[in-house]
Amino acid sequence: MKRGITGNGGEAAATNGSSMPNVTIVSRHTGPRGDVATRLRLGLVRPNKEVMPAAVLHSLEHFLDFFLREYLKEEVITVSPTGCQTGFDLVVMGDTTAEAVKAALFQSLDSILSANAVPAADKAHCNSYKKHSFAGAQAYAERILQALA
Ligand SMILES: [Zn+2]
Repeated sequence: MKRGITGNGGEAAATNGSSMPNVTIVSRHTGPRGDVATRLRLGLVRPNKEVMPAAVLHSLEHFLDFFLREYLKEEVITVSPTGCQTGFDLVVMGDTTAEAVKAALFQSLDSILSANAVPAADKAHCNSYKKHSFAGAQAYAERILQALA
């Protein structure tokens, strides 16, 4: 698919931030054999109002990669921080719903609060293992959970 430079290039539309966090389906993809993959945007802070610090985003990425795999019934292909530092792109196998992902996000954030350390934040598993903020990730998780409640 060709996209113009002025188009949104597959980016999820910016939201007005009236209800953060939000989970939206960006696109669904069907392969030649009928397999479906779903791409979602997890918006965690208000677009064009704030960004998450890089170390927090990095630690949240490790946590969400760990916990979303546990709480979603669909296989997680990737969960990646967005360049705008306001949230994550999530790609899963199968035809999930925003509501199911929001529930798994809630469980994941709740699990971050009771975690002892950032998963896989070590030299063997991470290419910037010193660039983490465990305390920052927990603080954001708590704040986002309060907004979700
Ligand atoms: Zn890492």
